[in-house]
Amino acid sequence: MRYALVLVNIKQLGVKTFSYNIPPEMDEKIQIGQPVLVPFGRQGLVNAFVVGFTEYVPDGIKIKKINKILDETPLFSIKYLKLLEWVANYYCTDFVTVLNAAIPMKLIEKNAKTEYSVELINNNYSGLTKRQCEIIEQLKSDGKCSLIDFESRAKTTRATMKKLEEMGYIKIATEYVYRNPLTIFKDVPIEPLFELSEEQEKVYHGIKSKLRSPHPLLLHGVTASGKTEVYFKLIKDVIESGKNVLFLAPEIALASQLTKRLARKFGIRDVAIWHSSISDGEKYDVWQRLYKNEIKILAGARSAVFAPLQNIGLIIIDEEHESAYKQTNPAPRYDARVIAHRLAQFHQAPLLLGSATPDISSYYYALNNNNLFTMLKRYNNAQLAKPEVINMQEYGKASYRGIISKPLQNEISEAVESGKQVILLMNRRGYSTYTQCKSCGSVIECPDCSIPMVWHSDGKKLKCHYCNKELAMPDFCPICGSDALSNSGSGTQKIELYIKELFPQYRVARIDSDILTKKNAHIELLNQFQKKEIDILVGTQMIAKGLDNPNVTLVGVISADTGFSVPDFRASERGFQLLTQVAGRAGRGEYKGKVLFQTYNPDYYAFQSAKSQNYEKFYETEIKARQEFDYPPFSKIARIILSSLNNYRAEKSAMEIALRLNTMIDKFGFGEHLEILGPSPCIISKINGYYRFQILIKNKLFQKGHDFISKFLNGITLPKDIKMAIDIDPSDIL
Ligand code: ADP
Ligand code: ZN
Ligand code: ZN
Repeated sequence: MRYALVLVNIKQLGVKTFSYNIPPEMDEKIQIGQPVLVPFGRQGLVNAFVVGFTEYVPDGIKIKKINKILDETPLFSIKYLKLLEWVANYYCTDFVTVLNAAIPMKLIEKNAKTEYSVELINNNYSGLTKRQCEIIEQLKSDGKCSLIDFESRAKTTRATMKKLEEMGYIKIATEYVYRNPLTIFKDVPIEPLFELSEEQEKVYHGIKSKLRSPHPLLLHGVTASGKTEVYFKLIKDVIESGKNVLFLAPEIALASQLTKRLARKFGIRDVAIWHSSISDGEKYDVWQRLYKNEIKILAGARSAVFAPLQNIGLIIIDEEHESAYKQTNPAPRYDARVIAHRLAQFHQAPLLLGSATPDISSYYYALNNNNLFTMLKRYNNAQLAKPEVINMQEYGKASYRGIISKPLQNEISEAVESGKQVILLMNRRGYSTYTQCKSCGSVIECPDCSIPMVWHSDGKKLKCHYCNKELAMPDFCPICGSDALSNSGSGTQKIELYIKELFPQYRVARIDSDILTKKNAHIELLNQFQKKEIDILVGTQMIAKGLDNPNVTLVGVISADTGFSVPDFRASERGFQLLTQVAGRAGRGEYKGKVLFQTYNPDYYAFQSAKSQNYEKFYETEIKARQEFDYPPFSKIARIILSSLNNYRAEKSAMEIALRLNTMIDKFGFGEHLEILGPSPCIISKINGYYRFQILIKNKLFQKGHDFISKFLNGITLPKDIKMAIDIDPSDIL
């Protein structure tokens, strides 16, 4: 007797597996990966996936029957489940958590048809109702086609849509026969690939000779050296050999840009995009096409490592140093680079990493495995702008309220007056940094988190950047009652306002995560900036990456010190990367670029290397420090966070676990190779009312140490009031 193990997604229970009887008529057809319908308690019939088979079920349980196979085409294979199982083991989390992150559960909810693909046919709309006009307007602003979510709107929308179709204004495609939006773009002729330059050609052949390496290959090329064109040539070869390519970018905006570029070179029918915010219909569509091997190139953000691309011949991870490849919260806290490596091994395909500022560990491994390829010149010898440093100790006081120095002001107006565009980086959102009482010195903190609240002039509120709590500005200091509260420091909002005040005649816009209340608002602004509708773009690190606008001649960093002082072993690396990346936005075309860093610490080493744009020099200093203190790549780090609403309880459980861990380590004689740090309060010691303590494990035994640690962690049971988060290879330790 064989039973099916199915995975069910239930509101109160979350995602879980249960056993079901297989009716005889289904026995031949049923397969792993199929979506099915099963009876579930009082909920009636619910959607589920077949994830396995079992011969045994616990005694005394009444087994119900599978009601229906919703779709005989499976959505994933056993091999795919094996990969997820590996991920669960590696990240010390359970299989279902990984499955839930990997497979969009909405995929199986086929009865909930919520989306339509709509094409605008006629846009002369005299005589239409207001609602009808609104819909047409939306279609127009989204381009030729748009998705209308009927569930989130009034029922009448559906009627309106039908009416519009009857009147010949639009054409509605069938429900869920949703075509990847790329195929709805105008089918433009395919552009030929560029002839590679001598340097590119050399790197291309170098990479070709290493495609069988089991270790990642790394292409270190300065910004605009033409890495992407090298990738394209490699992609072409892979596709011609009949295999497929997975191409990851660190975030959605970059993935979208990349997809367009790929579609122009390889044709829209072979290219698809995958990231967390494509719509459910689109996910369903792309997923099926991937599974049926109808897509040759999949571009996407980190979650695309879980998309079921078949027959992979090459995986490329661009801007591989970006921490966005690591999911920090919630679990699974996976790193797309680690999974991609596994996936590549699975398919016996090469993994190619690329960056202008590689991750220190990636560089170290590539160097030692002889898998490093370098391009140190920009394509066509365009000049890399050498950043100049403005020492704010000299300029800060005398100039414009100490925020934008006189020299930077002058450069800004010179650039804009000559029709060029400017990027100003301020890597902190909000208006100010903190609000302080001038009489007793206390800083206003979030009542639930141990960090200062940040004043936002936009909504006239104090906001917590961790839990999003908002408070009105108090009239009096909560500690001493004085009314001398003042905002100090600056964030993007303040810079934006200052710039607008300074240059009322220029068009200024701001990009940071606060503007993301509207989905993809930043993509819209970036498009406007590309079209020269914005003169000055102020923003956080969101504007430092990927922007390829040849009309940008000036990049100013308002406070280049921000970031270097964070108490994390990667602070210098991150600071260096950010400054180098943002500097790379200047002078990408025929116009010479200029980069200005405002700083209070002009002598700091990471800062000096960023200034000279010298990655090797930075690497040499940094790798020595890593070795001295046993940080990655000389160890692997596991981080355990214990948290509780009760400070004492959190600390106590952290201490108990650390003690047990130390005892075990001694018992196994691993003392020299597994170093325990803590427990200590996390640097952000309270978030959302939860007190947080952390234990860091520096593991110098690598795989063997990892196995030991995960075994130990799997054996832990905790009281209900204590939460444990395990972060393997954490991207930060705050
Ligand atoms: P990177 O990926 O290193 O930042 P890109 O590949 O985007 O650099 O190249 C920067 C610019 O130079 C792009 O506009 C690209 O089209 C152009 N370019 C690069 N290589 C070539 C080439 N061989 N022929 C013509 N244009 C090129
Ligand atoms: Zn006070
Ligand atoms: Zn908070």
